[in-house]
Amino acid sequence: MAVDLRAEITLSVVIPMYNEEDALPALVSRLRPALDGIGASYEVVAVDDGSADRTASILDDFRAEWPELRVVQLRRNSGHQAALTAGLHSSFGRYVVSIDADLQDPPEKIPEMLELAQRQKLDIVYGVRSDRSTDTGFKRRTAGAYYWLMRRLVGKNVTSQAGDFRLLSRDAVEALKALPDQQQVYRLLVPWLGFPSGEVTYHRDERVAGETKYPLSKMIRLAIDSITSFSAAPLRIATWLGIISFFACLGLLVFSLVAFVSGVAVPGWTSLFVAVLFIGAVQLICAGMLGEYVGRIYTAVQQRPTYFIGSDSASAPAPAPAKA
Ligand code: UDP
Ligand code: MG
Repeated sequence: MAVDLRAEITLSVVIPMYNEEDALPALVSRLRPALDGIGASYEVVAVDDGSADRTASILDDFRAEWPELRVVQLRRNSGHQAALTAGLHSSFGRYVVSIDADLQDPPEKIPEMLELAQRQKLDIVYGVRSDRSTDTGFKRRTAGAYYWLMRRLVGKNVTSQAGDFRLLSRDAVEALKALPDQQQVYRLLVPWLGFPSGEVTYHRDERVAGETKYPLSKMIRLAIDSITSFSAAPLRIATWLGIISFFACLGLLVFSLVAFVSGVAVPGWTSLFVAVLFIGAVQLICAGMLGEYVGRIYTAVQQRPTYFIGSDSASAPAPAPAKA
């Protein structure tokens, strides 16, 4: 009977990649020696997130000479977190490490993460940045604000310097897979699971080639998804804004009545205009916040998958043996 080799894989390394043709050769040249050195079976799950460049064909070339490399092809660009989800769901290893394709996270740290998890029986090992000196000032400040807020919403165990470079045990991966969330923000969900965890610090390098795939618009999307997936606080803010403006209006009303009764005309065009605009803005903001939650309910009800796998080289038929 054929033995299922998948059950034997110790480590899966999941790498979401989108238009990373320039970074790929450097990635493979550092990742492969690091993984070959761990002395255990492994697979590399390269998730091609619908790249429009030569990422797919370069991956195929590498696969011909690197049997541990597996290519999961998404049918279209679905975003970093969805690509990560696809990779986690496709992985077989007893431990799964997720890492970016641009070598900002050093692959040389993977053996250390694995060793720490095995030695201390940890389910999660975070890659924690020792500094952010290679990020732009803007990225540092926005990230600082993001993590400050997230610690308040999710809890103290959200580490501010931990991104998506981390190791998960099979138990942790299965726990994540069981969550019904559609937009999975892993850097928050993982600490929220509450598994025993450890940290490995590393220096975050600059992107080796190509440019960031995270423009401001995607960063804002990630922030909104993060907030709405963990907290209904903005809805309460809407209530409080309503209550505050109600009392402010009441105060103004009393003031105007008193002024009217005492015969003082209240000159009011500007204040009237400002008040109307202010109330209008508050209402629009509140409607927008409501909309974000309604949108989440909408996608949750639709139950559509966040990604589609076009092909997976692990399930592709084995290459035909060469004829003698
Ligand atoms: N990525 C992806 N799909 C996307 C955008 C990004 O798979 O739609 C991948 C990208 O190839 C990289 C990782 O996600 O491996 C992190 O992206 P990037 O390095 O551009 O983000 P940054 O480090 O600038 O925050
Ligand atoms: Mg990067």
